[in-house]
Amino acid sequence: MKKERALWNAKHFCMKGHSMKRTRFIMEGMEVRGWVCRQCHETVLHPEDAQRMFLFNKLKRGISIKVGSLGNALIVRFPKAVAKFYGIEKGIKIILRSKDTEKLELIPI
Ligand SMILES: [Zn+2]
Repeated sequence: MKKERALWNAKHFCMKGHSMKRTRFIMEGMEVRGWVCRQCHETVLHPEDAQRMFLFNKLKRGISIKVGSLGNALIVRFPKAVAKFYGIEKGIKIILRSKDTEKLELIPI
């Protein structure tokens, strides 16, 4: 966390050596931190946010996860990055809601 803040607060320069300004972009419906050069308009995305956007795009297309079992119950395991993205952790509640007869939504609350 400390390292990430240091990156965000550090001075950034474009390929031409101009000083870049911190900014926030809206990309694919998501806020992404980054830097923009006021002179040549070069942009750089914050690596962590770029990673989040990559994951978000992947999730929009859908990822496959396997259903397991625990005793008599069926369980699904979330990849850690997905759980972190949506703030899903052990003990939280999730609403299961029918989208139609083939789709089911999971809504962390
Ligand atoms: Zn520049």
